[in-house]
Amino acid sequence: MRKPGNKIMRIRGWALAMIFIGMAVMYLGIFFRETPWAMMIFLVLGTLPIMLSFVIYFWVGMISTRTVTVQCPNCERHTKILGRVDYCQHCKEPLTLDQELEGEAFTTDYNVKHRREKKIEEIRNKENGKD
Ligand SMILES: [Zn+2]
Repeated sequence: MRKPGNKIMRIRGWALAMIFIGMAVMYLGIFFRETPWAMMIFLVLGTLPIMLSFVIYFWVGMISTRTVTVQCPNCERHTKILGRVDYCQHCKEPLTLDQELEGEAFTTDYNVKHRREKKIEEIRNKENGKD
C-alpha cells in the first residue's frame, strides 16, 4: 500500500491535477472547432476544474496559516503539520503534536478530536494500571 503523504502536499497535488484536467478538456474542444457550440461546451467544461483548483489553492492558503512548522526528527528538515497528526513533507515520517500519542500505532483517526481523546484516555489508564 502506498504511504499517504503530507496533507497540504496532497491537497496541492489535487489542485494541480485539476488544472491539467481542465486543460485536457479544453484541448479536446479543438477537435470540435467545426462545430462552435460543441467547442464552447468543452471550453466552459474546461474552465470549471481550473476554477475549482483556484478555489483549492486559495483554501490551502487559508489553512496554511493554521499549520505548525516542526523539525522532523527523522530527516531533520522543517515540515508543516496540519491537524494533530500528519506526515513529514520530505520523508513521510508520521508526526504528532500530542506527547501522549508518541510511539503509539499511528493513525489519522487522531485528527478526529473525540477519537484522539479516547486514545489518550486509554493510554493514561494503561499507565495508571502499571503503578
Ligand atoms: Zn522528515
